[in-house]
Amino acid sequence: MFENKIALITGSSKGIGAAIAKELASKKCNVVINYNSDLTSALKVQEQCQKYGVQTLIIKADISKEDEIINMIEQIITTFGKLDILINNAGIAIDTLFEEKTKDNFMKTLDINLVGTFLVSKYASVYMLKNKYGKIVNITSTNGINKYFPMCLDYDASKAGIISLTHNLALQFAPYINVNAVAPGWVGTENELNNVDQEYIKLEEEKIFLRRIGTPEEIAKLVSFLVSDDASYINNEVIRIDGGTY
Ligand code: NAD
Repeated sequence: MFENKIALITGSSKGIGAAIAKELASKKCNVVINYNSDLTSALKVQEQCQKYGVQTLIIKADISKEDEIINMIEQIITTFGKLDILINNAGIAIDTLFEEKTKDNFMKTLDINLVGTFLVSKYASVYMLKNKYGKIVNITSTNGINKYFPMCLDYDASKAGIISLTHNLALQFAPYINVNAVAPGWVGTENELNNVDQEYIKLEEEKIFLRRIGTPEEIAKLVSFLVSDDASYINNEVIRIDGGTY
C-alpha cells in the first residue's frame, strides 16, 4: 500500500509512535524512527519494522530544538531524497497539582507538544510541497477537546493548540498536503499504565461506552488509513478515537 513512501514518526521508540511505525512498515512503508533518549527501544522498533522488508532510519532529535529538527529533515532527504508522510506524535505530559504547576512546566509542555509539532511540520513541508505530495497527521487528544484535567492543564492547552495548528497547516499547505489530527482518549501504553491503580483503571473504563481503554495498535490503524491514498479526500479533520465517551 505504501511502496516507495517515506514516513517520519516523531517519538516512535515506544508507545503509540512505535505502534504507528510498525503498522506503516507492515504496509510496506519505509519508516524513519525518531527518538530523543532511548536508543535501545528505538533499535527494537527498527528490528520489528525491518521484518517487513522495508528501509528504516533511526534519528536522534529533540523536537523542542530547531537545529536538531533541521538536521533530522536534512538527514532524511540525504538518505531517501524525499519525505512523503509525517506523524507528529512526540509529546509529554507533566502531572502536578494546580498549585504546584510552574511557568517552566507550562513552557516545556508547549515547547515540545505544540511548537515542536509546528517546527517539524514547517521543515518537512518544504520537501512535500516540492513534490506536490504530502500527508501529515498530528496526534492531539480528547484532552484538547472536552476532557479537562487541571493536573495537566498545560498538556490540555497544548493539545487544543495542535487542533488550531492542524487547521492552519491544512490551509497553508493546500492543495498539496492533507493535514489531519487524531484525538485519542485513554490509550494503554506502558507509560500510561505504569504505577496506575487497577481499581482506577476499572472505574475509568466504566465511563467508556466500549468499557475498555484503547490500544496503541487501534490508534495506529486509524493513522495509517489517514496517511494512505484511500483517505485522499479527508483533509483538515480532527478524528476522535476514544471508544465512545460523553
Ligand atoms: P509515550 O510517552 O509512550 O511516547 C511519547 C514519545 O515521545 C516517547 O517516545 C518520547 O521519548 C517522545 N518524546 C518526548 N519528548 C520528546 C522530544 N522533546 N523530542 C523527541 N521525542 C520526544 O506516550 P504515548 O502514550 O505513546 O503518546 C504518544 C502521543 O499520543 C503523545 O503526543 C500523547 O500526548 C498522545 N496521546 C496519548 C494518549 C494516551 O492515553 N496514551 C492519549 C491521547 C493522546
